[in-house]
Amino acid sequence: MSKPIVAIVGRPNVGKSTLFNRITGGLVAIVENMPGVTRDRLYRDAEWLGRKFALIDTGGIEFKNEGTAISSQMRRQAEIAMEEADVVIFVVDAQISPTPDDDLIARTLRRSGKPVLLVANKVEDFKQVEGQLYDYLSFGLGEPIPISAVHGMNTGDLLDLVISNLPEIDEEEYDPDVIRISVIGRPNVGKSSLVNNLLGKERVIVSNVPGTTRDAIDTPFEHEGRHYILIDTAGMRRKSRIEDLTEQYSVVRSLRAVDRSDAILMLIDAVDGVTEQDKKIAGYAEDAGKAIVLVVNKWDLIQKDEKTINKFEKSIREELGFLQYAPTMFISAKTGQRVNKILDLVDFVVEQNSTRVTTATLNTLLREWVHLNPPPTDKGRRLKIRYITQVGVKPPTFVFFVNDPELMHFSYKRYLENQMRKHFGFEGTPIRIVIRQKD
Ligand code: GDP
Ligand code: GDP
Repeated sequence: MSKPIVAIVGRPNVGKSTLFNRITGGLVAIVENMPGVTRDRLYRDAEWLGRKFALIDTGGIEFKNEGTAISSQMRRQAEIAMEEADVVIFVVDAQISPTPDDDLIARTLRRSGKPVLLVANKVEDFKQVEGQLYDYLSFGLGEPIPISAVHGMNTGDLLDLVISNLPEIDEEEYDPDVIRISVIGRPNVGKSSLVNNLLGKERVIVSNVPGTTRDAIDTPFEHEGRHYILIDTAGMRRKSRIEDLTEQYSVVRSLRAVDRSDAILMLIDAVDGVTEQDKKIAGYAEDAGKAIVLVVNKWDLIQKDEKTINKFEKSIREELGFLQYAPTMFISAKTGQRVNKILDLVDFVVEQNSTRVTTATLNTLLREWVHLNPPPTDKGRRLKIRYITQVGVKPPTFVFFVNDPELMHFSYKRYLENQMRKHFGFEGTPIRIVIRQKD
């Protein structure tokens, strides 16, 4: 199902990220705690009274080409909110009068047809708030909703309003057997070319079905008797109102596509290599537990000798250190080189992403792994793993029952994960390991 989007806008320091964390329930527990990986947190899932939506903190979006002027940054953020979101939360600081920057954002937002909820944050005394917020009526966005993001005061009422303004979104009715593939990557990496090349070879069932979502075109097709949906994030941008698409803008799109997919084809430009944006999206795909293939495109432009692929592969692995499990492919969407191998690899990683291992097998192997490399002791106490069991797929998720979770150090967990990958593969899929206490 495609989720509606709610965007938070406002100038710096008004409390956007505090509100964002409040609504999304704080930092998502990253089960596989990877040091050194910065995770993009500007887009996150949220839910209120059973309604799911995605929340964007536009304050986290930066624009390289907009110079340093804060006001032009904010204007761009507000524009993105207007373009992308179904509901906009505009946050101001209740403790001060409107500033010219607030006014600029208000003017930008007034032009949008989207519902805008004006929110006055940092309210300390809800009894005396009315006179204080009088000046904000001049924005023409209705009465400000007083809240305190830090204390969670009135945020429930705000969320009620958010929900009541969300549009009805049609449920996607795809057969669960259909494999949904999204092609993501920064602008110009070759997404459209790959989509065209892939679909050119296959039997397209109904060509281009827009309308399932507003920001991607879904194309169902058939290949060797199996059914797929290709989610093309590039196809729709040509209709966008914002002409010069910034990289960040397409990140939001990509993240939504990742959510709706079973497998991600992450395109990397052979000439430019891995970009910061690629890292963010890849990190998100991992967090979302999706199967992923790293597809290096424009391979035809590279001068090659017999070592080139290995060198390239090594540098990708270094850049995307946390994605050691993702298989790579080197293709040319232009010439079609190796494009016909992509779906086989997609099938493979999707299968890996749904792999189940029996508890008996896991525990037989566990004894071996522990025997080979006994857990270290900590202050005289030794970790004991009682047993492990798989509790889920997509991605494969395991619970380790141990005497004391504190004793499970990162390096030992990493060792066990490596052993699991050695035995079961799990190629192209993240796996989750949850540690639980059991006496
Ligand atoms: P952002 O730049 O808009 O994302 O703002 P932040 O969420 O980083 O908040 C800026 C500062 O305002 C931080 O020091 C917060 O602790 C503070 N702040 C946020 N919400 C509230 C609130 O409800 N009351 C008060 N008093 N301070 C707040
Ligand atoms: P998108 O923005 O990611 O959809 O990228 P496009 O598919 O529009 O491609 C951007 C440009 O790169 C176009 O000029 C394409 O012709 C070119 N291009 C795409 N794939 C390849 C490739 O494999 N090799 C070469 N040489 N050019 C490519």
